[in-house]
Amino acid sequence: MFRLMLRRLISKVRKTFRFGGILLLSCLVLVIAIKQVQGKNLPGLTTASAQEQALEQLIGKPIAQQIETHVRALASKPHEAGTDANTKTAQYYAKKLREYGFDEVIFNRYEVLLPRPVKREVTLLQPESYNLKLIEPPIPSDPDSYNQALLPPFNPYAADGDVTAPVVYVNYGLSEDYAVLDSMGISVKGKIVIARYGRSWRGVKSRLAAQRGAVGCLLYSDPADDGYVKGKVIPEGKWRPEFGVQTGSVLDIPKYPGDPLTPMQPSKPGVDRLTQSSAVTLEKIPVLPISYGDALPILRNLDGEVVPKEWQGGLPITYRIGDNAAVVRMQLQSDWSVRPIVNVIGILRGRSEPEKIVMVGSHRDAWGFGANDPVAGESSLLESARTIGELAKQGHRPQRSIAIASWDAEEYGMIGSTEYGEEFQDALKGNVVVYLNREFYIAADFNASGVASLQPLLNQITKEVQMPDSDKSIFEAWRESQQNNTVTVNGMQEVRLDGLGAGSDYMVFMHHLGIPSLDFGFGGADDYGGYHSRYDSYWFFKNYGDPGIAYGERLTELVSLFLLRMADARVLPFDYASYSEAIDRYIDELSEVAQKHSVALDLDRIRAANIELRTTAQKLNAETAQIATMSDRSLERNREAISRLNNLLVAAESAFLDQNGLPRRPWYRHQIYAPGYDTGYNAEPLPGVREAIERKDTEETEQMTNVLVSALNRVCDTLQEAFAVGLEVNKAT
Ligand SMILES: [Zn+2]
Repeated sequence: MFRLMLRRLISKVRKTFRFGGILLLSCLVLVIAIKQVQGKNLPGLTTASAQEQALEQLIGKPIAQQIETHVRALASKPHEAGTDANTKTAQYYAKKLREYGFDEVIFNRYEVLLPRPVKREVTLLQPESYNLKLIEPPIPSDPDSYNQALLPPFNPYAADGDVTAPVVYVNYGLSEDYAVLDSMGISVKGKIVIARYGRSWRGVKSRLAAQRGAVGCLLYSDPADDGYVKGKVIPEGKWRPEFGVQTGSVLDIPKYPGDPLTPMQPSKPGVDRLTQSSAVTLEKIPVLPISYGDALPILRNLDGEVVPKEWQGGLPITYRIGDNAAVVRMQLQSDWSVRPIVNVIGILRGRSEPEKIVMVGSHRDAWGFGANDPVAGESSLLESARTIGELAKQGHRPQRSIAIASWDAEEYGMIGSTEYGEEFQDALKGNVVVYLNREFYIAADFNASGVASLQPLLNQITKEVQMPDSDKSIFEAWRESQQNNTVTVNGMQEVRLDGLGAGSDYMVFMHHLGIPSLDFGFGGADDYGGYHSRYDSYWFFKNYGDPGIAYGERLTELVSLFLLRMADARVLPFDYASYSEAIDRYIDELSEVAQKHSVALDLDRIRAANIELRTTAQKLNAETAQIATMSDRSLERNREAISRLNNLLVAAESAFLDQNGLPRRPWYRHQIYAPGYDTGYNAEPLPGVREAIERKDTEETEQMTNVLVSALNRVCDTLQEAFAVGLEVNKAT
């Protein structure tokens, strides 16, 4: 379908625009652009070309009122994946994209396993009796919090069960926490563990507990991490109140994201599905999220040893590990139905290379109203769609196509985007030149992660947009908050991009398809206590999320700038020398890991391959810099060669993939980045070799070293080919 659509797009565009038309249009754009730019005070912009001047118009265009209207509309009802309410939000999204001039809007549907809670009961039986509330009480200032359609707090994909056992406190439930328990001679076998949220993916917490023989798992928000220790709680402040609970998936995504029953396959009707018992990403034990109000009666009754100092949380008690004193019964049952989901994808056809696509996506499904997560994020993205659509109507239609995707069922485990990537992988590879992920945002620090080849571009465009509530650019504010994470390139300080791990819709693009990907925005889950809760409502957004909507406006500008820069770039701005610099650091880390585990590692081979890669990338950069200054006429003469060069720049990223994937998790094919197997969320660089070392498996270490070196060589060969094309172009002019 995707291919067909592309072919249709290409032929339509060919009919509409001839070369003369393009020239005429360019002149028009120039005139309009210069007229509109004159007299405007544009912060931080120094540009010359007509194209750049058109881009300047993006600044100051976003309208807070538009963003607020979307937030009000899209967060008016709870809209979890698979509900009618969420289908309605898809229609809203599609209608807006059409209104903004997107040429085609597609509904893309799947049928996926989406459990919902039926029974949730947790009782403290000993030494006192207490029935946990397990619900978030409404707050009078927020009328939405009384809504009866809200699902209660739960951890989707936790096992059904009825278990009774003593409770053990395991801090954050990380591998290193269990190492501490081991050193104290404490086992969780046959116990129910209680772990605090934070520092790892939920599904990893429950998996590590189950692996060690725990029979149940309670996850709670400690006030030290998300509550009154951080600041005033809802409704007086933005932090989590006593009975606030974080809902969230415990799908074991470091194994693979997406529908648990159809790994590697799109979950279309009729596709072969695994049985639930053979799906390795489904949790094996009951898991339930609770509030610190409900955790307190359990924690204060734990006996046994006092916890290590760092394990002490924010509740007014002395935390203990727990032995046999506090006994809890957990009863859990879900409705395990397969339900329909729908992604919406809008395409604004490119002027001269419509088959090449700059893609941006954000999810649409929420836990509850989701006014911040994801609605604020998707609303600012819709506003980018409007400003870009408006520029196109004025004559500045980008050279490449721009696709805006609204993903469904992200909250359950990146399901809509993963199924889409699995279905259309052949069409996406080579055609999508970049994937930008936009999650939710909240008024807080700027942050970004992604492929290091996009580090220079992102550093540059953040200089062109103001930080809200500040006289600094986003770049200056970002650099201040990332002081230990900068690198000096050609005398200029750049903030480094960390790799992408897990937790949002970039996963299939980055880890499975090797499409250059990145993710940026303001704030994250650790910045507010309404996250994944009934309190993430319009009322919250207006009071704490982004009251003046300045963050939403600046984000809109930055996203639009990024999309148009990528869509209009003569030579795609991928810098593989930056990539190589990042890999260099990962190699240093790898060397430390090898020393720590006393595993022999042929570092020299890896280093040599990376040096070769960098040398080639530097040569290539010199050629592409020259092409960037070329006259329009020479550019037109070399159009075919430059397009070949761009294809190679995109292909270099996918050359990092190994088709066999990582050992034990073949869905993950990228050899530079994967989510940490035992942490989730964070990226684990050079995952194949690193995991082999950590397992002290010398044979696998050698084998994965070969795989890594081959990947580096493949990338280098691709860049070498690109260099040859660049050289040819520059010689000809
Ligand atoms: Zn989200």
